[in-house]
Amino acid sequence: MTDLDPHRELSELVRAFRVHLEVQRSRGAYAAEAAPMPVPSPALVPSDLEVWAPAARSAPVAPAALPGEPSESPSRAEMQAMLADVSDMLDEPRRAPVGPARPAASAPAPGGEPVPQHRASRMSLADIRAELGDCRRCKLAQGRSNIVFGVGAPDAALMFVGEAPGFHEDRQGEPFVGAAGQLLDRMIEAMGWSRDSVYIANVLKCRPPQNRDPEPDEIAACQPFLAKQIEAVAPRVIVSLGRPAARLLLDSNAPMHALRGRFRPYRGVAVMPTFHPAYLLRNPERKRETWDDLKQVIAELTRLGVRSPRPPKA
Ligand code: SF4
Repeated sequence: MTDLDPHRELSELVRAFRVHLEVQRSRGAYAAEAAPMPVPSPALVPSDLEVWAPAARSAPVAPAALPGEPSESPSRAEMQAMLADVSDMLDEPRRAPVGPARPAASAPAPGGEPVPQHRASRMSLADIRAELGDCRRCKLAQGRSNIVFGVGAPDAALMFVGEAPGFHEDRQGEPFVGAAGQLLDRMIEAMGWSRDSVYIANVLKCRPPQNRDPEPDEIAACQPFLAKQIEAVAPRVIVSLGRPAARLLLDSNAPMHALRGRFRPYRGVAVMPTFHPAYLLRNPERKRETWDDLKQVIAELTRLGVRSPRPPKA
Protein backbone atom coordinates (compact mmCIF):
# COMPACT_ATOMS: atom_id res chain seq x y z
CA MET A 1 0.00 0.00 0.00
CA THR A 2 2.98 2.28 0.35
CA ASP A 3 3.07 2.90 -3.43
CA LEU A 4 -0.57 3.94 -3.60
CA ASP A 5 -1.61 7.55 -4.00
CA PRO A 6 -3.90 8.92 -1.24
CA HIS A 7 -7.11 8.56 -3.26
CA ARG A 8 -6.28 5.00 -4.26
CA GLU A 9 -5.33 4.16 -0.69
CA LEU A 10 -8.61 5.57 0.65
CA SER A 11 -10.51 3.61 -1.98
CA GLU A 12 -8.71 0.43 -0.99
CA LEU A 13 -9.47 1.02 2.68
CA VAL A 14 -13.18 1.40 1.93
CA ARG A 15 -13.12 -1.77 -0.10
CA ALA A 16 -11.32 -3.56 2.71
CA PHE A 17 -13.96 -2.47 5.18
CA ARG A 18 -16.65 -3.78 2.86
CA VAL A 19 -14.84 -7.11 2.77
CA HIS A 20 -14.86 -7.12 6.56
CA LEU A 21 -18.61 -6.40 6.63
CA GLU A 22 -19.20 -9.19 4.15
CA VAL A 23 -17.31 -11.59 6.39
CA GLN A 24 -19.36 -10.47 9.40
CA ARG A 25 -22.65 -10.77 7.52
CA SER A 26 -21.77 -14.25 6.32
CA ARG A 27 -21.31 -15.20 9.97
CA GLY A 28 -24.70 -13.85 10.95
CA ALA A 29 -23.18 -10.99 12.97
CA TYR A 30 -25.48 -8.10 12.25
CA ALA A 31 -24.27 -5.93 15.10
CA ALA A 32 -20.88 -5.05 16.45
CA GLU A 33 -19.52 -7.64 18.81
CA ALA A 34 -19.47 -6.81 22.48
CA ALA A 35 -16.59 -7.42 24.80
CA PRO A 36 -15.98 -11.12 25.38
CA MET A 37 -17.97 -12.69 28.14
CA PRO A 38 -16.53 -15.31 30.43
CA VAL A 39 -17.30 -18.82 29.26
CA PRO A 40 -17.52 -21.38 32.03
CA SER A 41 -14.37 -23.33 32.38
CA PRO A 42 -15.01 -27.04 32.11
CA ALA A 43 -12.42 -27.52 34.80
CA LEU A 44 -14.55 -25.56 37.26
CA VAL A 45 -17.88 -27.25 37.60
CA PRO A 46 -20.35 -25.30 39.72
CA SER A 47 -21.64 -27.21 42.67
CA ASP A 48 -25.29 -26.90 41.66
CA LEU A 49 -24.39 -27.86 38.11
CA GLU A 50 -23.01 -31.11 39.41
CA VAL A 51 -26.57 -31.91 40.39
CA TRP A 52 -27.46 -32.30 36.74
CA ALA A 53 -24.01 -32.73 35.16
CA PRO A 54 -22.08 -34.64 37.80
CA ALA A 55 -19.15 -35.63 35.60
CA ALA A 56 -18.94 -32.48 33.50
CA ARG A 57 -15.17 -32.34 33.33
CA SER A 58 -13.90 -32.42 29.78
CA ALA A 59 -11.46 -30.66 27.51
CA PRO A 60 -12.14 -26.95 26.91
CA VAL A 61 -14.58 -26.34 24.11
CA ALA A 62 -13.67 -23.64 21.65
CA PRO A 63 -16.41 -21.47 20.14
CA ALA A 64 -17.90 -23.69 17.50
CA ALA A 65 -17.89 -22.62 13.89
CA LEU A 66 -21.02 -22.84 11.84
CA PRO A 67 -20.74 -24.86 8.67
CA GLY A 68 -18.71 -22.84 6.23
CA GLU A 69 -17.48 -20.36 8.68
CA PRO A 70 -13.91 -19.57 9.63
CA SER A 71 -13.28 -20.87 13.12
CA GLU A 72 -12.81 -17.51 14.83
CA SER A 73 -13.89 -13.89 14.52
CA PRO A 74 -11.33 -11.66 12.81
CA SER A 75 -8.96 -10.25 15.36
CA ARG A 76 -7.43 -6.78 15.24
CA ALA A 77 -4.27 -8.36 13.79
CA GLU A 78 -6.34 -10.12 11.14
CA MET A 79 -8.03 -6.84 10.27
CA GLN A 80 -4.66 -5.11 9.99
CA ALA A 81 -3.41 -7.94 7.82
CA MET A 82 -6.53 -7.61 5.73
CA LEU A 83 -5.84 -3.90 5.25
CA ALA A 84 -2.18 -4.50 4.50
CA ASP A 85 -2.97 -7.17 1.94
CA VAL A 86 -6.05 -5.54 0.55
CA SER A 87 -4.70 -5.24 -2.98
CA ASP A 88 -3.93 -8.94 -3.11
CA MET A 89 -7.30 -9.84 -1.64
CA LEU A 90 -9.23 -7.74 -4.12
CA ASP A 91 -7.18 -8.47 -7.20
CA GLU A 92 -6.84 -12.22 -6.75
CA PRO A 93 -9.56 -14.85 -6.64
CA ARG A 94 -10.93 -15.23 -3.08
CA ARG A 95 -9.21 -17.97 -1.13
CA ALA A 96 -11.51 -20.65 0.12
CA PRO A 97 -12.21 -20.18 3.84
CA VAL A 98 -10.81 -22.74 6.24
CA GLY A 99 -13.40 -25.29 7.30
CA PRO A 100 -16.77 -26.19 5.88
CA ALA A 101 -18.62 -23.45 4.06
CA ARG A 102 -21.56 -21.76 5.79
CA PRO A 103 -24.39 -21.09 3.36
CA ALA A 104 -24.40 -17.56 2.01
CA ALA A 105 -27.31 -15.38 3.04
CA SER A 106 -28.93 -15.91 -0.34
CA ALA A 107 -28.35 -19.67 -0.45
CA PRO A 108 -31.28 -21.99 0.18
CA ALA A 109 -31.42 -22.77 3.91
CA PRO A 110 -32.86 -25.92 5.48
CA GLY A 111 -36.48 -25.20 6.27
CA GLY A 112 -36.84 -22.34 3.82
CA GLU A 113 -35.67 -18.76 3.47
CA PRO A 114 -33.48 -17.23 6.18
CA VAL A 115 -35.37 -15.98 9.23
CA PRO A 116 -36.01 -12.25 8.67
CA GLN A 117 -34.11 -10.03 11.05
CA HIS A 118 -36.49 -7.08 10.79
CA ARG A 119 -39.33 -7.29 13.28
CA ALA A 120 -41.69 -5.30 11.07
CA SER A 121 -41.65 -8.10 8.49
CA ARG A 122 -42.55 -10.81 11.01
CA MET A 123 -45.84 -12.01 12.52
CA SER A 124 -46.14 -11.54 16.27
CA LEU A 125 -46.45 -14.53 18.56
CA ALA A 126 -49.94 -13.31 19.46
CA ASP A 127 -50.94 -13.34 15.78
CA ILE A 128 -49.54 -16.86 15.38
CA ARG A 129 -51.43 -18.07 18.45
CA ALA A 130 -54.60 -16.50 17.11
CA GLU A 131 -54.08 -18.24 13.76
CA LEU A 132 -53.61 -21.56 15.56
CA GLY A 133 -56.93 -21.02 17.35
CA ASP A 134 -58.68 -24.14 18.67
CA CYS A 135 -56.61 -26.19 16.27
CA ARG A 136 -58.04 -29.43 14.84
CA ARG A 137 -55.52 -29.81 12.05
CA CYS A 138 -54.39 -33.26 13.24
CA LYS A 139 -55.69 -36.18 15.29
CA LEU A 140 -53.91 -35.08 18.46
CA ALA A 141 -56.64 -32.52 19.03
CA GLN A 142 -58.95 -35.32 20.18
CA GLY A 143 -57.03 -36.22 23.33
CA ARG A 144 -55.51 -32.98 24.46
CA SER A 145 -56.47 -30.90 27.47
CA ASN A 146 -54.66 -27.75 26.33
CA ILE A 147 -52.72 -26.49 23.35
CA VAL A 148 -49.17 -25.88 24.56
CA PHE A 149 -48.01 -22.98 22.43
CA GLY A 150 -44.77 -21.67 23.93
CA VAL A 151 -43.40 -19.51 26.71
CA GLY A 152 -40.70 -16.94 27.29
CA ALA A 153 -39.34 -13.72 25.87
CA PRO A 154 -40.84 -12.87 22.47
CA ASP A 155 -37.51 -11.54 21.22
CA ALA A 156 -35.21 -14.03 22.94
CA ALA A 157 -31.72 -14.51 21.53
CA LEU A 158 -31.76 -18.11 22.74
CA MET A 159 -34.58 -20.54 21.94
CA PHE A 160 -35.16 -24.14 23.00
CA VAL A 161 -37.26 -26.48 20.87
CA GLY A 162 -38.51 -29.75 22.28
CA GLU A 163 -40.65 -32.52 20.95
CA ALA A 164 -44.19 -32.42 22.31
CA PRO A 165 -46.08 -31.75 25.54
CA GLY A 166 -46.18 -34.44 28.19
CA PHE A 167 -48.80 -35.09 30.87
CA HIS A 168 -48.05 -32.05 33.04
CA GLU A 169 -47.59 -29.75 30.08
CA ASP A 170 -50.91 -30.85 28.64
CA ARG A 171 -52.63 -30.14 31.95
CA GLN A 172 -51.01 -26.76 32.51
CA GLY A 173 -50.79 -25.55 28.91
CA GLU A 174 -47.10 -24.67 29.28
CA PRO A 175 -44.03 -26.43 27.87
CA PHE A 176 -41.49 -28.15 30.11
CA VAL A 177 -43.15 -27.92 33.51
CA GLY A 178 -42.70 -31.52 34.74
CA ALA A 179 -39.52 -33.14 36.03
CA ALA A 180 -37.87 -32.73 32.62
CA GLY A 181 -38.87 -29.09 32.66
CA GLN A 182 -37.25 -28.57 36.05
CA LEU A 183 -34.06 -30.09 34.69
CA LEU A 184 -34.25 -27.83 31.63
CA ASP A 185 -34.67 -24.83 33.95
CA ARG A 186 -31.45 -25.77 35.74
CA MET A 187 -29.63 -26.19 32.44
CA ILE A 188 -30.85 -22.77 31.28
CA GLU A 189 -29.86 -21.16 34.58
CA ALA A 190 -26.38 -22.72 34.43
CA MET A 191 -26.00 -20.99 31.07
CA GLY A 192 -26.75 -17.62 32.68
CA TRP A 193 -30.29 -17.35 31.32
CA SER A 194 -33.71 -17.94 32.82
CA ARG A 195 -36.99 -19.40 31.70
CA ASP A 196 -38.30 -15.85 31.21
CA SER A 197 -35.37 -14.63 29.14
CA VAL A 198 -35.31 -17.46 26.60
CA TYR A 199 -38.14 -18.82 24.46
CA ILE A 200 -39.30 -22.43 24.77
CA ALA A 201 -41.57 -24.26 22.34
CA ASN A 202 -42.23 -27.74 21.00
CA VAL A 203 -42.56 -29.21 17.54
CA LEU A 204 -46.08 -30.38 18.43
CA LYS A 205 -48.49 -28.26 20.43
CA CYS A 206 -50.65 -31.15 21.63
CA ARG A 207 -49.73 -34.21 23.67
CA PRO A 208 -49.42 -37.52 21.80
CA PRO A 209 -51.17 -40.39 23.61
CA GLN A 210 -48.91 -42.15 26.12
CA ASN A 211 -46.17 -39.70 25.13
CA ARG A 212 -45.44 -41.70 21.99
CA ASP A 213 -43.21 -40.26 19.29
CA PRO A 214 -44.80 -37.72 16.97
CA GLU A 215 -46.10 -39.17 13.73
CA PRO A 216 -45.27 -37.70 10.31
CA ASP A 217 -48.76 -36.39 9.62
CA GLU A 218 -48.84 -34.67 13.01
CA ILE A 219 -45.46 -33.05 12.42
CA ALA A 220 -46.53 -31.96 8.95
CA ALA A 221 -49.69 -30.35 10.33
CA CYS A 222 -48.05 -28.58 13.25
CA GLN A 223 -44.56 -27.63 12.11
CA PRO A 224 -45.63 -24.51 10.18
CA PHE A 225 -46.53 -22.95 13.51
CA LEU A 226 -43.12 -23.71 14.98
CA ALA A 227 -41.54 -22.21 11.87
CA LYS A 228 -43.58 -19.05 12.39
CA GLN A 229 -42.65 -18.95 16.08
CA ILE A 230 -38.97 -19.12 15.19
CA GLU A 231 -39.50 -16.40 12.63
CA ALA A 232 -41.32 -14.23 15.18
CA VAL A 233 -38.70 -14.65 17.91
CA ALA A 234 -35.75 -14.58 15.48
CA PRO A 235 -33.32 -16.17 17.94
CA ARG A 236 -29.58 -16.05 17.33
CA VAL A 237 -29.15 -19.65 18.50
CA ILE A 238 -31.60 -22.54 18.83
CA VAL A 239 -31.02 -25.55 21.09
CA SER A 240 -33.03 -28.51 19.82
CA LEU A 241 -33.88 -31.02 22.53
CA GLY A 242 -34.14 -34.63 21.43
CA ARG A 243 -34.28 -36.42 18.13
CA PRO A 244 -37.64 -35.31 16.65
CA ALA A 245 -36.82 -31.62 17.06
CA ALA A 246 -33.32 -32.04 15.63
CA ARG A 247 -34.58 -34.09 12.71
CA LEU A 248 -37.27 -31.57 11.88
CA LEU A 249 -35.12 -28.47 12.14
CA LEU A 250 -32.12 -29.97 10.39
CA ASP A 251 -34.03 -32.06 7.85
CA SER A 252 -31.95 -35.08 8.75
CA ASN A 253 -32.64 -38.68 9.67
CA ALA A 254 -29.25 -39.11 11.31
CA PRO A 255 -29.23 -40.66 14.78
CA MET A 256 -28.99 -38.35 17.76
CA HIS A 257 -25.41 -39.27 18.59
CA ALA A 258 -24.41 -38.14 15.10
CA LEU A 259 -26.39 -34.90 15.27
CA ARG A 260 -25.56 -33.61 18.73
CA GLY A 261 -22.61 -31.44 19.55
CA ARG A 262 -22.29 -29.64 16.23
CA PHE A 263 -23.91 -26.45 15.02
CA ARG A 264 -25.96 -26.71 11.87
CA PRO A 265 -28.10 -24.04 10.24
CA TYR A 266 -31.86 -23.76 10.20
CA ARG A 267 -32.92 -20.87 7.96
CA GLY A 268 -29.70 -19.06 8.78
CA VAL A 269 -29.99 -19.63 12.55
CA ALA A 270 -27.41 -21.77 14.33
CA VAL A 271 -28.95 -24.91 15.81
CA MET A 272 -27.23 -27.00 18.48
CA PRO A 273 -28.88 -30.40 18.80
CA THR A 274 -28.57 -32.00 22.19
CA PHE A 275 -30.33 -34.54 24.38
CA HIS A 276 -33.87 -34.04 25.66
CA PRO A 277 -34.07 -33.45 29.44
CA ALA A 278 -36.46 -36.39 29.76
CA TYR A 279 -33.78 -38.60 28.20
CA LEU A 280 -31.22 -37.16 30.61
CA LEU A 281 -33.42 -38.10 33.55
CA ARG A 282 -33.25 -41.71 32.36
CA ASN A 283 -29.62 -41.50 31.26
CA PRO A 284 -27.81 -39.14 33.64
CA GLU A 285 -24.44 -40.23 32.30
CA ARG A 286 -25.23 -38.18 29.15
CA LYS A 287 -25.45 -34.92 31.11
CA ARG A 288 -21.74 -34.38 30.66
CA GLU A 289 -22.08 -34.39 26.86
CA THR A 290 -25.10 -32.14 27.10
CA TRP A 291 -23.19 -29.59 29.15
CA ASP A 292 -20.42 -29.71 26.55
CA ASP A 293 -23.05 -28.87 23.91
CA LEU A 294 -24.45 -26.02 26.00
CA LYS A 295 -20.97 -24.60 26.53
CA GLN A 296 -20.66 -24.37 22.77
CA VAL A 297 -23.94 -22.44 22.73
CA ILE A 298 -22.60 -20.04 25.38
CA ALA A 299 -19.45 -19.53 23.32
CA GLU A 300 -21.40 -18.97 20.10
CA LEU A 301 -23.68 -16.40 21.73
CA THR A 302 -20.62 -14.67 23.14
CA ARG A 303 -19.03 -14.64 19.71
CA LEU A 304 -22.20 -13.06 18.33
CA GLY A 305 -22.07 -10.35 21.00
CA VAL A 306 -25.12 -11.66 22.87
CA ARG A 307 -24.83 -11.40 26.64
CA SER A 308 -26.78 -13.58 29.01
CA PRO A 309 -28.59 -11.78 31.87
CA ARG A 310 -26.14 -13.33 34.35
CA PRO A 311 -22.69 -14.80 33.83
CA PRO A 312 -22.76 -18.51 33.08
CA LYS A 313 -21.85 -20.76 35.95
CA ALA A 314 -18.13 -21.07 36.32
S1 SF4 B 1 -50.63 -30.94 17.35
FE1 SF4 B 1 -50.56 -28.99 16.25
S2 SF4 B 1 -51.64 -29.40 14.31
FE2 SF4 B 1 -52.19 -31.06 15.72
S3 SF4 B 1 -54.10 -30.36 16.65
FE3 SF4 B 1 -52.41 -29.75 18.01
S4 SF4 B 1 -51.92 -27.64 17.41
FE4 SF4 B 1 -53.14 -28.56 15.74
